[in-house]
This record gives sequence, structure tokens and C-alpha cells, in this order.
Amino acid sequence: MSAIRSAQDWKKDAEKLSIRHQAFIAGKYVPAKSGKTFDRINPATGQSLAKIAECDAADVDVAVKAARAAFDKGAWRNEAPAKRKKVMLKFAELINQHRDELALLETLDMGKPINDSYNIDIPGSAACIAWYAEAIDKMYDEVAPTPNNALALITREPMGVVGAVIPWNFPLMMAAWKLGPALATGNSVIVKPAEQSPLTALRVAELAAEAGLPEGVLNIVPGYGPTAGKAIGLHPDIDCVAFTGSGEVGKLFLQYSGQSNMKRVWLECGGKTPNIVLSDCADIDKAATAAAFGIFFNQGEVCNAGSRLIVDAKIKDRLLEKIFKVGETLQPGDPLDPSTKMGAIVDKTQLERVMGYIKKGTSEGADLVFGGKQVRENTGGYYVQPTVFDKVKNDMTIAREEIFGPVLSTITAKDDEDAIRIGNETTYGLAAAVWTRDISKAHKAAKALRAGVVWVNCFDEGNIATPFGGFKQSGIGRDKSLHSLDKYVELKTTWIAL
Ligand code: NAD
Ligand code: MN
Repeated sequence: MSAIRSAQDWKKDAEKLSIRHQAFIAGKYVPAKSGKTFDRINPATGQSLAKIAECDAADVDVAVKAARAAFDKGAWRNEAPAKRKKVMLKFAELINQHRDELALLETLDMGKPINDSYNIDIPGSAACIAWYAEAIDKMYDEVAPTPNNALALITREPMGVVGAVIPWNFPLMMAAWKLGPALATGNSVIVKPAEQSPLTALRVAELAAEAGLPEGVLNIVPGYGPTAGKAIGLHPDIDCVAFTGSGEVGKLFLQYSGQSNMKRVWLECGGKTPNIVLSDCADIDKAATAAAFGIFFNQGEVCNAGSRLIVDAKIKDRLLEKIFKVGETLQPGDPLDPSTKMGAIVDKTQLERVMGYIKKGTSEGADLVFGGKQVRENTGGYYVQPTVFDKVKNDMTIAREEIFGPVLSTITAKDDEDAIRIGNETTYGLAAAVWTRDISKAHKAAKALRAGVVWVNCFDEGNIATPFGGFKQSGIGRDKSLHSLDKYVELKTTWIAL
């Protein structure tokens, strides 16, 4: 039970691992109705890990019926708040107790370093569930100001059945960001994990049941987007969808809602985060280190990755030199080796996308100044070097589109104003960062930047208490914090004549 286990230890555990490979519906593991399965490939080796139930519309429908039945019965939503808190705290505790196993599953499934799965994803997911558990018995509803002859109650009620459609970059953590507030408010939930990373969601379903979550309140339906995902979007008896993934698919969910039952749709759709380093940055080394981790962490597969480095011409060369130095220390390695800081790209498709963008950067006239190659091909896995482009123009493809790989675009700004203008010149608005020693400039920039999070003299900071989500096409709604609870409730006014 410690992070300093060796790659050999993890590999030994991997051989003994029993992988949950069926859907979890109404409290039981079940095969897809069609009997179909799909292969889960370990991106570190290209080898098959397991055959997973390939759910489609028929299975989603069974899961919705189970979720609705649980909701109608009220075994969860009508339970006393203190009791629901206890169940969710137990669920969080069980996730922590299975930290080794879950970290291993996450790393085998999607290629991130075991050190990150073990120290970030799994404890972070448990902490998220526990944080919302703690909120359950501390939330009050409202009484409205009314004339003396009336009493008006404003109460929050669970929506009913929530569909959570999850990406592959932080599989369990993104599921936890939806499950925490959706379960805390008394809903039934159907999780569709990404086809690239269903293993941890499938495993924690039985931990939730063990913690005392009633049958049907949490269901997991693994499968592909255009079948299982679409069925969730179109289902007439799902009240709300919480989605994280690409903008393209986010927009489809808005359409699905319009074509079906007007279900609420919450979207977290990524970004093209500007990391803006002004000429009076107090600590260039710190800014460079943060910039490198900001784009190379998690193989660059991060929605708020600082993919556009916008830097004043006067300090650009010093900053890039240091970024290359940090980049040297982040070369891809075996994800099961605890010293590895960058793992494998999630699958062959994503590898090809990333390599395609690197080619495009060069062909559109940017300077490839660091990395840029696929490596470790002899492993059978999918690995890309940390990569930096210089002389990028903000209208080039690599500055506009979300690459979701370890590729940094450096854009030179003439002055402070130019830097902020370029920063905002994007269809996204998830996050932004600014580096300056001038407090008034910092505040002005923070106000001017159109993004859900602005970091000043830091990058990627935050905790479960702070909202996360986007302006513009980065999404609709916020994950984390008490604000996210509002996504999973309806407001009701009860007006009583006295
Ligand atoms: P995606 O948006 O296609 O997948 C996210 C989820 O949506 C998955 O569960 C998937 O099965 C589901 N889905 C896919 N197509 C669907 C459809 N037609 N109907 C309903 N559900 C559908 O993401 P991807 O294809 O795995 O990755 C493509 C790009 O998306 C990445 O390169 C990256 O830019 C972006 N992305 C962003 C995030 C993020 O955190 N914002 C996460 C993953 C991917
Ligand atoms: Mn897709």
C-alpha cells in the first residue's frame, strides 16, 4: 500500500487483477443484451486487457427503467440526510481502501503514470465523493419574503434520472465530479464511461453498493458514443445529462435534448487555455516550470491544458530555454514505473490525431523547436514526446483546435494588451493564466480574460471547493463546489395561503 512500490510489484498485481467487464444495472453485473463485447487495449503495450460489454440503446433503456424505479421508490432520495451522508462517506472510504487496485486499473486502461493515478485520480475521486457527502446534511432550503397571509417555501428537489457521459482523460475523477453532486441531491444516475476507459467506473459500482447505495441508484453502461451515448441523449425518461468531452459531441447532446424531452444538458467541453507571461513576470523559472507541467501533465490530455503560451517578445527565449529543460525530465516512459512522469497516449486514434496536428503545425509554418516525435514504438504502445512549437500565429490550426496531446504553441505578443487580446481570441473559455508582478495589471487581466478560471502567477491550481467550467464554447454549467449541486435539482415554490 504505497506509491513507492516498484514497476515489478505493479506488474505482478496486474497479472492477478480480476477485471469487471460487464455492465452494472439494478445492482448486478450483466452482459449487454446483444451479447456483444469490445476490446479494451492497454495503450502502454497495444495488448488486450479485457472484453467489455458493448451496451447500446436496449441496455440504456433497461438501466433507465432501473434508475427510474429506484427513484420512484424513494429508497435513496427520501432517506434521512444523515443516512445518505453516511452511505456516501462509506463509498469514499471504500474507494480509498481500494486505492492500489483502482490506480492500477486506471493506468492500465488509459496509460497515465501510476504515480498520478495513485496520488491524484483515486484519492481525488474519493475526496470529491466525501466532500459532497459532507454537504448533504448542511444544506437548507428557503422561505420567501411574502405578505403575512401567505407562506412560500422554495425547495430543491432531485431531478430524477441523470445520465453522466464521461471522457477518458481522468476517468474516475470526471465520473466523481458528476456523481458527488448528483447522488448528494438524491438522483439516480446512469454513467456511460468512455469506451477507452470503463474499468474504474465498473469496479466502483459494486463499492457503492457495498457502501449501502440502494439498487438501481447507480448504473454503469459501457459502450460507444454513437450508440450508448446517443441513447442516453435521446432517452425520453432521462431528466438531465452531465457531459464532459469534445465540443462537437457536446453540441450533439444539445440537439438530442431538443429532439427528445428537453432534458437539462450540462457540458464541459475543453479549451485552448492561454498561459500569458507578461514582460514583468517576477519568476521566469517558476512560470516555465508551470507552463511545462501545464501542457505535458497527463500527456497533455487535459481540458484546461495551457496549450497556448502567449509571451512578451522580450522574455520569450529565456522562457523557452527553461521549458525545454523541464521537458527533458518529462520524457514518456512505462506508465507502471513509479518514476514515469509522462505515460502513453490513450489510443491509436488519439495518437494519430496528435501526430496529425504536429504535421499540420509544421506545414502551416510554425517552428518545431522541441520534440515532435512518436517514441517507444517497440513497446507496441502509443507515446509522443513533449513537443513545443515557436512562431505560432493565433489563427493557425494548432492554436485554434484542441489537440489533447503534449503539444505547446508559443505565440509572441507585442505588449500586455496584445497578449490579453490574443488570449481571448478563441472560441473557448475554460481557463486562462497570467504572470505579472504588478497587482493592478493582474486584476485587470483577470477581469478581461473571458474564462471560467483565471490563474495569477500559478497554473492549474484549485480544489473541490472552487467551481470549474467554461465561458463560450467551453461549456454550460460548472463542476465542483456547492454551485454544481444546482445542476441536479429543480426549484419548487410551494405557496400556502394562511
Ligand atoms: P468525445 O467527446 O467523442 O467523447 C466523450 C464521451 O462522449 C465519451 O463517453 C464518448 O463515448 C461519448 N460520445 C462520443 N460520441 C458520441 C455521440 N455521437 N453521441 C453521444 N455520445 C458520444 O471525445 P473523444 O472522441 O474521445 O476525443 C476527441 C477529442 O475530444 C479530444 O481530442 C479532445 O479534444 C476532446 N476531449 C475533451 C475532453 C475534456 O475533458 N474536455 C475529454 C476527452 C476528449
Ligand atoms: Mn469522438
